[in-house]
Amino acid sequence: MEKSYRPKSYDFYNMMENQAFTGPMFLGKDLEYVEQGYVITEDNKIIDCGEGKISGAKKHSIIPAFINAHTHVGDHFMREKCLGMTLESACAKRGIKENYMSAASEYTIVVGMKAAICEMLRTGTCCFTDFREGGIHGINLLKKVLMDFRYRGMRAKIFGRPLYHGENFIDDCDGYGMRSIRAEKINMRLGRTLGIHVCESKPGELEKALEFKPDFLVHMNSATPEELKKAASLNMPIIICPRSNAYFSLSQPDIPAMLNEGISLSLGTDNAMTNTASMPSEMEYAYRTNMKNVSAKEILKMATINPAKLFNWNCGIIEKGKDANLILLDEHFLKTPDPYATTVLRLQAQKSQMMFGGKFAHYY
Ligand SMILES: [Zn+2]
Repeated sequence: MEKSYRPKSYDFYNMMENQAFTGPMFLGKDLEYVEQGYVITEDNKIIDCGEGKISGAKKHSIIPAFINAHTHVGDHFMREKCLGMTLESACAKRGIKENYMSAASEYTIVVGMKAAICEMLRTGTCCFTDFREGGIHGINLLKKVLMDFRYRGMRAKIFGRPLYHGENFIDDCDGYGMRSIRAEKINMRLGRTLGIHVCESKPGELEKALEFKPDFLVHMNSATPEELKKAASLNMPIIICPRSNAYFSLSQPDIPAMLNEGISLSLGTDNAMTNTASMPSEMEYAYRTNMKNVSAKEILKMATINPAKLFNWNCGIIEKGKDANLILLDEHFLKTPDPYATTVLRLQAQKSQMMFGGKFAHYY
């Protein structure tokens, strides 16, 4: 039987509204495609969803909003300053990035951070995890910027790092984002989540990285097959950033091998100075370079359910009780022989409306 939907009155005080959408969509934890489904939201949550028609609802193709698992929004102001450089000359200790960052004004960095976050808003990302440079000062700078985006439903987890040896930054952020196995000296657990860049430009770093007892690894694009096996045996999630690796002419992550080992993969856009913070672009690149061996559905999971699990976000899935974070598109968009491939190959060129936290996101 067809359900019907009757909107409640608009709540002007809280600027909230309950909404109903119907059309093709990806439902539940396995992103199951249904050609005719519905979603009802109230305040900031999905209160009902499922297969079937619903009258009185707005017609759209509906996709869960994305989670960007790895960013450095602080270096957006350095766009194109590292073109043609090696990773080492751009990002190593006392490299170009560090020089520019220490010379830049707070205003310059903040303007760049806002621009990077707007790139995410425009392209359907509602949550991101940022590796923030600059110790406590750097962490607070991003927190201040995020205050401006809270009412638009954008959320972030900040993984800081010390500005100087011994700086006690960890209580000011969500975890430790280690630059590399060489950059910082710690020999104890901080009692917080720890992520580390590892095997980005060369193999053979995993063993040392594991001494820090990380919760997740970033990159592993240059890892050996043995290192991937080792990471898999430890159930270690990996965040891959294929466009970033391409920018620095590094090896690409072996996505088929990683998936064969059973590793949970998430996608990140990495440095805002080298890549846009667009998850549709990252998904498209990851898929196009692996089309023969990796399904588009697996790629879509890397931008939704996988990072949601890793960072404990209550979204990335269209399910009752989840946050109402949705991408709303033309109702015909997903109606193709492979709606997963359509999503990862074509989303970036689509006109879409974002709903983050139950509210339509307005961006500039
Ligand atoms: Zn990074």
